[in-house]
Parts: sequence; C-alpha cells; structure tokens
Amino acid sequence: QTPALDVPYVPTPQPVVDKMLEMAKVGSSDVVYDLGCGDGRIVITAAKVHGARGVGVDLNPVRIQEAQANAKSAGVTDKVQLRVANIFETDVSPASVVTLYLLPTINRKLRPQLWRQLRVGTRVVSHAFDMGDEWPPERTEQVDHRTVYYWTIKEEH
Ligand code: SAM
Repeated sequence: QTPALDVPYVPTPQPVVDKMLEMAKVGSSDVVYDLGCGDGRIVITAAKVHGARGVGVDLNPVRIQEAQANAKSAGVTDKVQLRVANIFETDVSPASVVTLYLLPTINRKLRPQLWRQLRVGTRVVSHAFDMGDEWPPERTEQVDHRTVYYWTIKEEH
C-alpha cells in the first residue's frame, strides 16, 4: 500500500541536480538533506562528486529501496543515509544544506520548520518552486529551462 504523498514522484534532471549543488557550494564538510529524495540522486551526487554526507528522506518505501540500490551502485553507502519518513516529522537540524523539489504549497508549509530547526548560514535550494512572499530567494539561476532558487538561514529567522 502506497502512503498518502504530499507530492508525486518526478525526478530532477541531472543538470539541474548539478546546478543545485553548485549554487549551494556543497563540499566535503557538508551534510545535505534532500526532503522527498525520490531515487536519491541529489544526495548520491553530493556524496560522489562533492564528498559530502547525505541524508535522503522519502515517505514511499519503494523510492527508498531504489535510492539504496543507487547508493550502492555509486559506491557511497558509507556517506549516504536513506530513510522512510515524513519530511514534516523529520528533524532537519543536522543539515548544512537542504534541497527541495516539492510543490509551492508544500514549500510554504515547510518554511516554519526550516526556520525553526536550521542553523544560521544553512543553505536551502529548491528546484522549480519558491517559498512565496514571506521568504524571497537571495539568488535564482536557470538551467534547462528550470529555475533553481537559493536562500540562506539568517539570524532573524
Ligand atoms: N528530490 C527528488 C528529486 O529531486 O529527484 C525527488 C522529487 S519528487 C518531485 C518528490 C518526492 O517526495 C517523491 O519521491 C515523494 O515520494 C516524496 N514525498 C511526497 N510527500 C512526502 C512527505 N510528506 N514526506 C516525505 N517524502 C514525501
């Protein structure tokens, strides 16, 4: 039985994954959380290409099985953790980078949790969807006709 998902599964194309990680300047000291990680491509790329640690969370166990198989093929099982969990019940406080490809409504619902839990300086990048008027992006970039949005967590959040 498939759990009730807030967002359907649509993978981010690899050039967009690369741009998200580049905008967030992901490096080997980072801990990258992908909320709704699908087949794990974002955290797997973060580990394989940038040497980061990654945590991928998805409510659908089928996605997590795929992600685990992909992490194994990529040789990054020591750097990547993949969990079946609801993003709204996940403690994201260990993240130094958060990546998202959700929906406008879900981004807005997530924003208070990000502001509450994330440390100042944590980078947040989102494929395709912004955070509404309450949290304008600091930067946006285009790749493959897609927009990537970039924010950092500030003291006043
Ligand atoms: N992040 C991946 C990427 O960019 O390739 C996948 C993005 S896909 C649009 C969204 C994912 O979120 C799906 O795999 C879906 O199963 C998952 N999802 C939807 N609602 C969720 C929730 N409440 N908690 C955790 N995962 C969820």
